[in-house]
Amino acid sequence: MINDNFQAVNERITAACEDSQRTRASVALLAVSKTKPLELIRAAYALGQRDFGENYLQDALPKIVGLPEANWHFIGHIQSNKTRDIATHFDFVHGVASEKIATRLNAARPDHKPPLGVFLQINLVDETAKSGVAPEQAASLAAHVMGCEQLSLIGLMGMPPAAFSLSERGQFFDQLKTLQLDLKKALPTGVLSELSMGMSEDLEVAIASGATWVRVGSALFGRRIPKEKL
Ligand SMILES: *Cc1c(COP(=O)(O)O)cnc(C)c1O
Repeated sequence: MINDNFQAVNERITAACEDSQRTRASVALLAVSKTKPLELIRAAYALGQRDFGENYLQDALPKIVGLPEANWHFIGHIQSNKTRDIATHFDFVHGVASEKIATRLNAARPDHKPPLGVFLQINLVDETAKSGVAPEQAASLAAHVMGCEQLSLIGLMGMPPAAFSLSERGQFFDQLKTLQLDLKKALPTGVLSELSMGMSEDLEVAIASGATWVRVGSALFGRRIPKEKL
């Protein structure tokens, strides 16, 4: 079953790349394995999948210990009291939204590990939402992350509201792409080259707008049980 799901998602990505005249290699698949058991993640690893996304720290840690050879991405809201564990155990975070969190991750990142890969989470829509930095503040946050030795500024991450239609999502993703191009002008070549956007339902739209990482959960691993029931 998981084999078929990975094949189907990979075919969707390939078709979306063809539709926008992009190479297949320009889009990476982040398999969102939150709430899913280690055995299923191992099965995906055996199929060649290397990058996995988790957003509940306590749920993720035993899986990371069980499969340290995979690349682990933290995709949830980052609370200050979780920065030490996140910086110690993960390879990437999507996304950082404040200087305070960036500073804490930088201080906690072990010296013997490569810099933690950072995507800035951008809040394009809802000013009251807890996660994401406002687009006007993205440049100064990017500059701050550039000054953190144990962090590497990888890209931007965005998530349209669930209520958005596919065409509204397309506009949202285009705005994120525009912001990326804007921010890159003030940054060294190669910095902020990635765009983490698109999930199970809207990955085609995100790829058409320039996504380089799609974060896909339910289309690969099946429906999730709500967090409360874990
Ligand atoms: C759960 C989650 C996903 C995956 O969502 P699906 O709709 O299951 O593909 C992607 N990104 C983030 C930040 C998530 O929390």
